[in-house]
Amino acid sequence: MNATNCIFCKIIADEVPAVKVYENEHILAFLDITPINPGHTLIIPKEHHENMFELPEALTLEMMRAVKKISHGIKDGLSEPGMNIIMNNGVAAGQTVFHAHIHLIPRKNGDGHAMWKGGKYSEGEAEKVARAIIAALEVETEKVPLKETSAGRRAEGSESPAGLYASLF
Ligand code: 5GP
Ligand code: ZN
Repeated sequence: MNATNCIFCKIIADEVPAVKVYENEHILAFLDITPINPGHTLIIPKEHHENMFELPEALTLEMMRAVKKISHGIKDGLSEPGMNIIMNNGVAAGQTVFHAHIHLIPRKNGDGHAMWKGGKYSEGEAEKVARAIIAALEVETEKVPLKETSAGRRAEGSESPAGLYASLF
């Protein structure tokens, strides 16, 4: 799958140059053209999917496998002590290229790149928010049974949304 006007699809097709650091059957990783720090890497699926919400589960797992591998390559190769692993999904989250990608951003001590400032929940708000998420997870679970998926066997019981949901009442 390839999207005609997608810059990352063009990088995959070698129509646009990029400094590549890793490639396999499903995944490509290359240096971000505007790095937060040197070594800032983007991991993308070779198939065009807009973001996490569109990515098939098997490809998501391939992405995560690549994150694990390449994060070590960046950390060891550049001797950096830290790393932010970020994925922007949707305009509201700051996504600007609509081909799913995960940022691996090596961090130096005191490099001055600030992260977000956390807020506070009001009384009962966290539980209300959690219930909304868990109820939606119940619907997801019906769509993709927990027991068996293409990615293999998942945990059952304590990890089921139903179990968590019950604990909130
Ligand atoms: P987003 O904000 O969508 O999470 O991040 C998109 C990232 O893609 C940005 O950090 C941007 O610098 C990077 N990017 C955009 N166009 C290109 C390109 O043509 N080549 C490379 N290597 N990176 C790009
Ligand atoms: Zn694309």
